[in-house]
Amino acid sequence: MTTPTSSSVDALSASAFSLKDFLSSLMLGELFKGLALTGKYVFRSKITIQYPEEKTPLSPRFRGLHALRRYENGEERCIACKLCEAVCPAMAITIESAVRADGSRRTTRYDIDFNKCIYCGFCEESCPVDSIVETPIFEYHGENPGDLYFTKDMLLAVGDRYEAQIAAARAIDAKFR
Ligand code: SF4
Ligand code: SF4
Repeated sequence: MTTPTSSSVDALSASAFSLKDFLSSLMLGELFKGLALTGKYVFRSKITIQYPEEKTPLSPRFRGLHALRRYENGEERCIACKLCEAVCPAMAITIESAVRADGSRRTTRYDIDFNKCIYCGFCEESCPVDSIVETPIFEYHGENPGDLYFTKDMLLAVGDRYEAQIAAARAIDAKFR
């Protein structure tokens, strides 16, 4: 009596598997499986939305376009401590600073290169004065080199425009911080 070799066992199991597939095809098994799945979802509420007319809700922690914020009196929050620049893993932030006549320190340059940014949120987390924040804005793009290089004025303009939204999102998240 001969002992089956490993190759003959493989061939046998391959042919058994093929037979199973053949029978499944013959009985339209895959078709009925697919129809059953369709039937399961056909009467459920639809989860597809018509973007951009319809939008899904965003978390108050959503990490989108960055903004530099001001205090209510219009003063910049940023004190040029450079923690955000130091913590940024993508080295996307460039800061230069100077001391003002009144002795306070402020940035003379605050740039973020969004071509490098990975939206990790470390800058936001590191900021001691809630100055650099990430907003829920994600509908922006660049078409030319440099379009996604934001200067301090641009970041402050984003902050000025969306301050109400930013403050509301941070108020919701405050108890978790
Ligand atoms: S989100 Fe992350 S990668 Fe982007 S600027 Fe902030 S720290 Fe750098
Ligand atoms: S944005 Fe915040 S962390 Fe960055 S330099 Fe200004 S104060 Fe410091």
